[in-house]
Amino acid sequence: MKMICDLPKSVRGTEEITQAANEIISCLPDPKTYYDDIIGAVKKYMIFDREHDIAVCTNCGNVIPFNNIYMKHELDGHCNNCGEETIYLNGRVGRRIREKSFRLLALSKNKGIIYLAVILVDVDFDRCFEFDLYEPEIKMQYQAIYKLAKNDCRAYQLCCSWLSGYEWRQIKNIKICAPPGMSYFPSRYNDELSVISEGILNQNFFEDTDLKYADIKRFVDNWPSYDNGYYHRSYFYPLVKYIDIFLKYSSTEILMKSGFEKVVYYRCVGEPVGRAVNWRGKSLQKIIGMDMGHVRMMRELDPQPHELGIFRNYYKKYGIELTMTEIDELRNNSNYYAEAGVFKDLESNYGITLGKVILYLRGENARIKTDSRPDEVRVDLRSYFDYAKMCIVAGYDLTVKSVAFPKPFWRAHDRVTEIIQEIREAKKVAEERKSAKAFMENQKKIFKTFDPYISEDLTVMIPTSAADLRREGETLGICVGNGIYAGNIVKGVSGIAFVRKRNDPEKAFYVLEISPKCKLLQLRGKHNCNATNEITSFVENWLSELKTKKQKAA
Ligand SMILES: [Zn+2]
Repeated sequence: MKMICDLPKSVRGTEEITQAANEIISCLPDPKTYYDDIIGAVKKYMIFDREHDIAVCTNCGNVIPFNNIYMKHELDGHCNNCGEETIYLNGRVGRRIREKSFRLLALSKNKGIIYLAVILVDVDFDRCFEFDLYEPEIKMQYQAIYKLAKNDCRAYQLCCSWLSGYEWRQIKNIKICAPPGMSYFPSRYNDELSVISEGILNQNFFEDTDLKYADIKRFVDNWPSYDNGYYHRSYFYPLVKYIDIFLKYSSTEILMKSGFEKVVYYRCVGEPVGRAVNWRGKSLQKIIGMDMGHVRMMRELDPQPHELGIFRNYYKKYGIELTMTEIDELRNNSNYYAEAGVFKDLESNYGITLGKVILYLRGENARIKTDSRPDEVRVDLRSYFDYAKMCIVAGYDLTVKSVAFPKPFWRAHDRVTEIIQEIREAKKVAEERKSAKAFMENQKKIFKTFDPYISEDLTVMIPTSAADLRREGETLGICVGNGIYAGNIVKGVSGIAFVRKRNDPEKAFYVLEISPKCKLLQLRGKHNCNATNEITSFVENWLSELKTKKQKAA
């Protein structure tokens, strides 16, 4: 068995810290005891060497003759000696074969005190063929060490800096630091491989320590885990946090034993728990901030910390015991309510408190349940607030009880929805009317008259509506009808006129755009073609007459 343990016994740091760190290190186990955990954590390989005609199992160290037929690089196989599934690797491919890096949580006890270390582990299979060792080289280095005693929890991290080299630093909170790595380089310590030594999960280990009643195994087996590996990534974190808060707060044990494990789990995996729980409380009532009746009620619901918080806050404020469904509704829509600001508005302007709304909805939903009408669905808070907002827009008086709390809800909801729709449509019609009027007025302002201007062969006609522009645009295949030009007329930015042949005045021919000061901006025919000289000079004549006419009028 070959292991190179690079675990510094003394490094820089203040004398006090170095002393404390060394004291912890002297209480930690010989890292060699973790050999099985380490080997168990890495992939198993059968590394072969054609030159020397051998293959080595990285799991058991068994050496067998090389077999040209089935030993192919990166193929699956298994070891005849230990029976492990292995992967064949050509030991002479490249300079490096395989290196596995991960973190190990090592743990020991001394006089009832728990000592803990996060160790960086590099398993290097390169060495398998050097000196005929046939075993991987395992390098280890401390990342952080912990002393975990009741009333004395401490953590130190080994830091490396350009100036001072390695140095112990005390960290404020008991936490697992990110694996080392610089921002330019991703860490090579793969958290997915993080290993908690099996020995830790054995409850007997804690028999004579302050963690005797911590039930570590149950904790590790039950903390929330997600398939996407979110919690798994910081594999150590929940366990270390659990030990930390178990030693710090007697509330941890009380919560675990009385059916509020979720509250503890969520805190330990790093979810924000906020003020939902008073960790310094000495009794369940004090910890959760509820009387015994509500504590029992909540226990039945198996709540997450923030659910406890919502229940408690609403009970305090309105004297209402929320159901889990109501808690969910409040939680899932909290952003929506905050954005809309409807809570505040309704309470201060109309005296509609959330407490009243919840009681009203309970009544409505109880009625719906007993009602056989299938088209009625449960009224949730969000539908109610949508309704209230619509009432405000429609000018309904929400201080009137039958408006604020209508029975049945859905009929009133549908009615006000219709009214809002009507209001919207009426608004649209009014706007259209207004812009049609502006269109006419502004065209008249620019062109002075809607009478056509006629020469020997050509005539200018002034469109009076957006529909005229649309028709012309479609016929000529140009963009005058797309709404932008009509919009410009409504805004008074430009005017549009049509040029047509005198003997064919119904047929689209050319379109022109001028500024309010009668400057020609565009003159286009079919598919955006430019005008002939004849048409251009006709338009210019007309424009100069128009200008003179305007000047005279001014
Ligand atoms: Zn083997």
